[in-house]
Amino acid sequence: MATSAAASSFPSYLSPPPASRRSGARPALAAAAAEGVMDVVSEAELREKGFMGMRKTKLVCTVGPACVDALPALARGGMGVARVNLCHGGRDWHRAAMREVRRLNDEEGFCVSLMVDTEGSQLLVADHGGAASVKAEDCSEWLFTSKKTDKVCPFTMHVNFDKFSEGILVGDELVIDGGMATFEVTEKIGSDLRCKCTDPGLLLPRAKLSFWRDGKLVERNFGLPTLSTKDWADIEFGITEGVDCIALSFVKDANDIKSLKTYLSRRSLEHIKIFAKIESLESLKNLKDIVEASDGVMVARGDLGVQVPLEQIPAIQEAIVELCRNLNKPVIVASQLLESMVEYPTPTRAEVADVSEAVRQYADAIMLSAESAIGAFPEKALSVLRAASERMESWSREENMQSLLPQYQLAIALPDRISEQICTSAVEMANNLAVDAIFVYTKHGHMASLLSRNRPNPPIFAFTDDSNTRKSMNLYWGVIPLQLPLSNSMDDNFKQTIKLLKSKGSVKPGDSVLVVADSDLNQPCAAATSSVYQSIQVRLVD
Ligand code: PGA
Ligand code: MN
Repeated sequence: MATSAAASSFPSYLSPPPASRRSGARPALAAAAAEGVMDVVSEAELREKGFMGMRKTKLVCTVGPACVDALPALARGGMGVARVNLCHGGRDWHRAAMREVRRLNDEEGFCVSLMVDTEGSQLLVADHGGAASVKAEDCSEWLFTSKKTDKVCPFTMHVNFDKFSEGILVGDELVIDGGMATFEVTEKIGSDLRCKCTDPGLLLPRAKLSFWRDGKLVERNFGLPTLSTKDWADIEFGITEGVDCIALSFVKDANDIKSLKTYLSRRSLEHIKIFAKIESLESLKNLKDIVEASDGVMVARGDLGVQVPLEQIPAIQEAIVELCRNLNKPVIVASQLLESMVEYPTPTRAEVADVSEAVRQYADAIMLSAESAIGAFPEKALSVLRAASERMESWSREENMQSLLPQYQLAIALPDRISEQICTSAVEMANNLAVDAIFVYTKHGHMASLLSRNRPNPPIFAFTDDSNTRKSMNLYWGVIPLQLPLSNSMDDNFKQTIKLLKSKGSVKPGDSVLVVADSDLNQPCAAATSSVYQSIQVRLVD
């Protein structure tokens, strides 16, 4: 008695996590579960930690040379989405990585979605020509030029775009990589700029430039399309390799998203989801329209930090995450989450705090970039994301038992409002009744996303008979996508599901489940019949 009283007097954040939840510990996977309806990672997690121990925040890993061989280990470690950044590396290598992910899914029972990320128009990138970083000393004079040469010229930076100096005035500030070094433009010589270093620092290969006047970014419109010829070819390549989603770099406005969606739908490829990367000032100005047009969003803090003062990024991140949740679009918080782990096996305390903050904000997913793509410790970095997110999830669950439902009403048409209300009420019921799990039967994943939007305490098991829908749900917070044949009868679906899960030891008699059925489950005319087929039931496993 004394022990439990003492234990409960500690604030919840001080209680130690169970052994299996500590950093580095990983659920043991079933030897061969390729035939299972649930992916092997979720299955092991459920077996070891129970319903409430299941992870909610999804983990994205950028694939790169450092982790191609580590893909099986990353999949085991909880990678839900593998991002192939087409900005780096060649086709053969990208293809090999994507095929390995598909092999893991087909042969080893994982469910990892594939994302390709377009290069986009990185207009202002400069190189000093060498491999390593170069120091820019105070008051040193440098030439920024777009004239190409193979030689390394001292005090010269080669810019990748010949109109880079258009609209730039003498006296403007040139900032490298969001603050690595700063110059003042002292002279325009044709299209070249002579500059004097005013804040010394490092010039790295592929340094990103931004120009500032009176404390504001100098915005210029060069009229270039968001998707270049190379990007279109890359997208085609991604389609051939069976990608599940495309992340669109340097999105300017909603039309960028709409035109790609039209292109995909003309080819009956609507199942490929489009994620808008918010990484420019322009995209921030058109944020709501972009979010509405997209299937999901990435807070691309790396490039955003080139165009926006760094101290503004945390507030922008929080606002984007909240907007996405209100508008029911999955959101990924990306870049530099554990940057120091590119070199070191342990993160800084500040990085762990940053990861935890994204989780506390209820981002759907957090992403590794260089940490997994070129870092020395990809698996360790992933285990830090996992441990930090599990800890923050369980803490916020205990601390925020009050309703976390978003206030914003999304739907306008009655059938959509019914779906929204059903999911909101279902989550309130699930939390109040403290059921073990929410089951949703869904054709396109819509009801699963509406449930996820309310960030319930229990995990959401989303059953679908469509393999594309299964993959698309991989980025929804708290949703475990499962695939199995479904019938029109809710009763049969439930019985079948329970039988399967019981046979795997995933559920047991006495477990309580809140069951939600999607309106358009095998219904040809969803809107007309939706209110009839949507329901909430609470069932006990017998
Ligand atoms: P990138 O995008 O990794 O493709 O550059 C993310 C970011 O800019 O933050
Ligand atoms: Mn970027």
